Amino acid sequence: MHALGVRAHDEIAAASDAGTLDAVRARYLGRGDGLLTVVRKQIGAVADPEARRAMGQTVNAVVERVTEALEERRAVLSAASTGSSTETIDLTWPPPPLRRGHLHPVSRVFRDVRRIFAQLGYVPVSGPELEYDRYNFTLVNMPPGHHSRDTQDTFYVDDDRLLRTHTSPVQIRSMLIRGAPQRVIVPGKAYRRDYDATHFPMFFQVEGMCIDEGIALSDLKGTLEFFARSTFGIDRAIRMRPHHFEFTEPSVELDVTCAVCGGEGCRLCKGSGWLELLGGGMIHPNVLRNGGVDPARYSGFAFGIGVERIAMLAYGIEDGRLLYENDVRFVSQA
Ligand SMILES: [Zn+2]
Repeated sequence: MHALGVRAHDEIAAASDAGTLDAVRARYLGRGDGLLTVVRKQIGAVADPEARRAMGQTVNAVVERVTEALEERRAVLSAASTGSSTETIDLTWPPPPLRRGHLHPVSRVFRDVRRIFAQLGYVPVSGPELEYDRYNFTLVNMPPGHHSRDTQDTFYVDDDRLLRTHTSPVQIRSMLIRGAPQRVIVPGKAYRRDYDATHFPMFFQVEGMCIDEGIALSDLKGTLEFFARSTFGIDRAIRMRPHHFEFTEPSVELDVTCAVCGGEGCRLCKGSGWLELLGGGMIHPNVLRNGGVDPARYSGFAFGIGVERIAMLAYGIEDGRLLYENDVRFVSQA
């Protein structure tokens, strides 16, 4: 039945003039021996009332769609035939202006972050988005049963694999590949089961990691200050607040002075004058060890930048969902 419908649609689409189209109509819907008409006549012979009703519905639906397709094709053909005889083209008329595209805010921030850290000698590296539980959690100091696993709303693929919830597993992978010293950033996607004004099921992160002898928290501060000023302006100040992450010790959250009020307090910063920018800290000795790096000799810092968060702060976007809803009015703002 459906095959018949598909064949009819193909023939309708191929009909290039009204005469051919009439022939197609007759072949399928002709009063006496149209292919669909014949099928319709057979419905009455089906004994089971349930089956009869079901078949009737199917046949009617196909007939309806074929009829619609015939009418649409007829309209297209008649528009084309009248159009070609009356249309005139003024070759001297200037063409409509070309609309230039531009980068999506997230792509732009992504590009800027890479550029800023390239100036400090960071090399971009990547890792798999479909990750093993071991790399995503266990080796970054979140062993099975650890309470912090619950807070991440993970997309599990099976018992052993998941969509990475952060770019941090690449810390381990990069240590195992490159050893120490090293300076890398990991621009990439991460996934969590979350969707509201500031959380997205897929989001972009830039992980940063620096390992060498004698690396201290002050190095992290200097690095992130350079990043914040390069992104938001030279007059921005930053502050670090103690925080807790499993994979760093000590851990900090980094704030930047509000881009709107400059620190005096406004709606965006909820009166505090500060905006939360990112998290980081000194890499936990366990994590260094898991990456095959000797914590007695080397130390390092790591940080994670939320790209959407930077885009929202840099462009004053209050609801981050706008970034992903593909509303042309939003994304075409230069
Ligand atoms: Zn403010």
